[in-house]
Amino acid sequence: MKGFEYLEEELQQMKEEGLFRTLVPLESDQGAKVTINGKEVIQLSSNNYLGLTNHPRMKEAAIKAVENYGAGTGSVRTIAGTFSMHEQFERKLAKFKHTEATLVLQSGFTANQAILSSILTKDDVVISDELNHASIIDGIRLTKAARKIYKHVNMASLETALKESAHFRNRLVVTDGVFSMDGNIAPLPEIVQLCEKYDALVMVDDAHASGVLGRNGRGTVDHFDLNGRVHIQVGTLSKAIGVLGGYIASTQAVRDYLIHKGRPFLFSTSHPPAVTAACSEAIDILLDEPERIERLWENTKFLKDGLRKLGFEIGTSETPITPVLVGDGAKAHQLSDKLLSYGVFAQGIAFPTVPKDSARVRTIVTADHTKDQLQEALNAFEKAGKDLNII
Ligand SMILES: *Cc1c(COP(=O)(O)O)cnc(C)c1O
Repeated sequence: MKGFEYLEEELQQMKEEGLFRTLVPLESDQGAKVTINGKEVIQLSSNNYLGLTNHPRMKEAAIKAVENYGAGTGSVRTIAGTFSMHEQFERKLAKFKHTEATLVLQSGFTANQAILSSILTKDDVVISDELNHASIIDGIRLTKAARKIYKHVNMASLETALKESAHFRNRLVVTDGVFSMDGNIAPLPEIVQLCEKYDALVMVDDAHASGVLGRNGRGTVDHFDLNGRVHIQVGTLSKAIGVLGGYIASTQAVRDYLIHKGRPFLFSTSHPPAVTAACSEAIDILLDEPERIERLWENTKFLKDGLRKLGFEIGTSETPITPVLVGDGAKAHQLSDKLLSYGVFAQGIAFPTVPKDSARVRTIVTADHTKDQLQEALNAFEKAGKDLNII
């Protein structure tokens, strides 16, 4: 069909630069090993930190919910699509997070859009870390509030932004809890201290910390013992929790307000019963099987130590997210392709997801990987790294 020549041109250029990618379909469930192109390979690219995507209790909860409540909800939450299980789960989640209330949205992405687009007015300002997730950036684009960006985890830069914005009614400082590309943890105690000093609100997006950091995976606020001092916590149910969804954990007023003004909540259909039931089961599993989190951290240490010993540059990650830094975008994709041929699935990540000169293969281990699998993965990294003169 005619009319998309300008897109074809840009795609052609991406192909010439080695940056054009096709999707990689899995032919199995999402586990420590997955099937790609008929071949079993070690999965090092998922966010399935705790191995919950296919946990027997999760599957059973989902199946039971389908049998009892059907496949879909048939409406948005505000009209006819709130089931009692939605509200039961939100109460359970609030108790787990030690907050007054929570509200679940379709995804972490829409949770950020809902909160950022609704609670700020033109009299307010949002102050955001320069490396915050795309969903925060897009959420900020939807608000009428003024915007300020501070340098990545740089507290002097944040303080300057706070000083320069004293005239606004409300100031909301927003940070990722764990930064998704580098795996570093936000200096939340310092951020909270500054916000208390300058009377600003704090919001943390804990997508990569939910289920990973804090007691039983309660997130960075709990990890740093800051319960009650962070105004808004955004979490995802799509990563370590193993299903799909996002939530806002805050006060009852924030929940009530979002029910009236959070556009993705108002205008998009609610989670199917299977999703809600499995998410709810996941919280019980976090409480019943804390050893999963211990295994996750053991495996993290094993893979990081191994990669470092092999001579790879793995940045400053403090979490299971371990980037193998390569620099050039095309080279990152070459490393990823080589790894796949040696039995390891680890995606290359290049511009615009990361800056142009810091392309990488990003790995995330899970609690379900065995030491043998991780050693096998390290062997593949050694071979591929030598093939491409990276080590
Ligand atoms: C993944 C991610 C999201 C989006 O979560 P989904 O539930 O996958 O939509 C939001 N924020 C951050 C920091 C993330 O890493």
